[in-house]
Amino acid sequence: MENILVKLDNLSFSYHTLSGETKALDKLSFEVQKGEFLAIVGPSGCGKSTILSLIAGLLTPESGGITFLSENGQKPGIGYMLQHDHLLEWRSVWKNVTLGLEISHRMTEENCSRVRKMLADYGLAAFSHKKPSELSGGMKQRAALIRTMALEPEILLLDEPFSALDYQTRLTVSADIASIIRNAGKTAILITHDLSEAISLADRVIVLTHRPAQVKAVFPIRLTLADNSLLAARKAPEYTSYFNSIWEEIADEKA
Ligand code: ADP
Ligand code: MG
Repeated sequence: MENILVKLDNLSFSYHTLSGETKALDKLSFEVQKGEFLAIVGPSGCGKSTILSLIAGLLTPESGGITFLSENGQKPGIGYMLQHDHLLEWRSVWKNVTLGLEISHRMTEENCSRVRKMLADYGLAAFSHKKPSELSGGMKQRAALIRTMALEPEILLLDEPFSALDYQTRLTVSADIASIIRNAGKTAILITHDLSEAISLADRVIVLTHRPAQVKAVFPIRLTLADNSLLAARKAPEYTSYFNSIWEEIADEKA
């Protein structure tokens, strides 16, 4: 069923620096469905982070546009999560995850108890009063996600959020975080250079070309899972064939 939440329409953007102009995006178009978990893969420097910054409103399109089709006609709330957790070392975990609420004067009892519940649900309740340096890499990423979710965004923009984690941690944390986002019914756009991660977590994978990025291929992902765990996704019978098809598109782009 078509239920578009974000529509990118012939989006173009260039960076202007003293040394010249870099065309990052040239008439890029794609859509994101409400509640969808979309993964974007593509060569380094092709414009992936630029796409997220444009969606977040941190950059303004040179031409073309981004339309948000939320039910109330207003721009949906957007949460942005980056590779580094950017937790503040001088604040406790609790003070970090409620930072956005504090800044926006929304430290209501209701919001605080929602954040407390997330800390409990995601295994961080006992660490509320600890400093970020006392947490493992995976716990820090979960804390960064809770901080982002505290503001109840409808759309989550994830820019290689797991790439600083070691392989084992990355497997569990990425599956955890994707489940949290799915269970909360959010829409997510995940940028990753890890094809396995894209296939195991996303409903759809978009492969981009070299800069300026164009959509090279789109793969809707349907995996037969033995159980409901995203960790099992890599063992699904369809997994290898998706991996090979997406790999071919990317390898072709690298050639
Ligand atoms: P990706 O996330 O796919 O690696 P980016 O969106 O970060 O790519 O960047 C796309 C292109 O724009 C790259 O060639 C990069 O060097 C250039 N670029 C990114 N940010 C800036 C900036 N602030 N000033 C100038 N050029 C930039
Ligand atoms: Mg990037």
